[in-house]
Amino acid sequence: MTSEATRHVMQANKSKNTTPELTMRAALREAGLTGYRLHWKKAPGHPDICFPGRKVAIFVNGCFWHRCPHCCPTLPKTNARFWEEKFARNAARDARDDALLVEGGWTVIVVWECRLKKERLEPTVRDVILEVERAGSSEGGVARVIEIGSLPAWRLGLARRRLGRRRGRRGRA
Ligand SMILES: [Zn+2]
Repeated sequence: MTSEATRHVMQANKSKNTTPELTMRAALREAGLTGYRLHWKKAPGHPDICFPGRKVAIFVNGCFWHRCPHCCPTLPKTNARFWEEKFARNAARDARDDALLVEGGWTVIVVWECRLKKERLEPTVRDVILEVERAGSSEGGVARVIEIGSLPAWRLGLARRRLGRRRGRRGRA
């Protein structure tokens, strides 16, 4: 195995409570969104973070393991077959968990590790908080998978401004 591959295997051995997970949890606490459960066994896929009352499940995906579409991590050059199979299993498991959660009425929020890096942390956290709050409000409750940061920045900005105007017209903050 290459040293890069070895490093990833080592990281996988402690895939719970990773740095991006801790970052996300700290941001939620700071926003006053406490009362979440970690790796809750009663929810399909044992989401990294979940709010059972709001029925919100948050997965903080490691870019390498879940094959991030944003930063597209390079494939290890050695043992290509092994990695391809491993990644295919991960993807299948993610899809199954998402489907089970949505079927059960959960809002699934996917946050990629690279979206939590310092320069992108703020907009990512803002979007996650918005979705968690929306899912817990009367206008929420639509079970679906939301990928944070999946839109280009300019489209997100437009969407947010539009949302702000709509909210303003209805006299909501
Ligand atoms: Zn990424």
